[in-house]
Amino acid sequence: MAKKWYPVIDYAVCKECGACIKKCSHGVYDASKAPSPVVRNPESCVDHCHGCGSLCPAGAITYVGEDTGWTPPKGARGNADGCGCSGACGEASGKSVLVEYLYLDLQSCDRCIGTERELDEVMKILTPALKLSGYKVEYKKIEMKTAELAEKYKFLSSPTIRVNGIDICASVSENSCGCCSDISGTDVECRVFEYMGESYEVPPREMLAEAILKETFAPSGGGCACGGYEIPQNLRAFYEGKKKKSGCSCGGSCC
Ligand code: SF4
Ligand code: SF4
Repeated sequence: MAKKWYPVIDYAVCKECGACIKKCSHGVYDASKAPSPVVRNPESCVDHCHGCGSLCPAGAITYVGEDTGWTPPKGARGNADGCGCSGACGEASGKSVLVEYLYLDLQSCDRCIGTERELDEVMKILTPALKLSGYKVEYKKIEMKTAELAEKYKFLSSPTIRVNGIDICASVSENSCGCCSDISGTDVECRVFEYMGESYEVPPREMLAEAILKETFAPSGGGCACGGYEIPQNLRAFYEGKKKKSGCSCGGSCC
């Protein structure tokens, strides 16, 4: 079957900075042609990864199979200067901010509900300022309703907040979540957020604001969700338990 997800370069706007080639650790680009981006192994591209496109200072990269609403950063469009900094300028000129909130349950999970509340407040404050600075801001909330969706989004832990595809938490820390355990009738652990030496089940606003601003103005260039993925056992148990509890025979694909 033909590969359904890979980058396409608009050479009319590409500045040949080579940032996309440096960014990709999956051998999609032909390194021998650097800094000119040549997609040599499209089949190696990781489904729904936006790693290179999010870094591109020219907004020159789009994806075959794109279905997430993601759009390339456009900050450098119209900048006639040649770029030779291998992506550092992209950090300053990328003018798109995509904040994604991935969660398991907003009906009864205190952790998901509390995190949504705090993130809403932070976005309410940051969005006008970012827009004033010329940024296009998108804020999406996506329920990880099924194991299939979890796989599609490479969901590691609930809740997850990503800024331009980068998880605001460098690693996964979890503890027992009574709400999600009740929903699924099995022991389930959910995310705890580490900030300034403390652990929080609902992330503090300072942490959220800091993470969003940092990833907007000084992208880390790492930790994107493009690596290999296997649904964590913890989440698998959640989906299977939820299915059993509901008495549905869908195998986790509808409930
Ligand atoms: S989308 Fe990700 S995996 Fe695909 S080429 Fe870009 S960085 Fe590599
Ligand atoms: S990051 Fe963008 S501008 Fe730089 S080489 Fe790749 S496609 Fe071209």
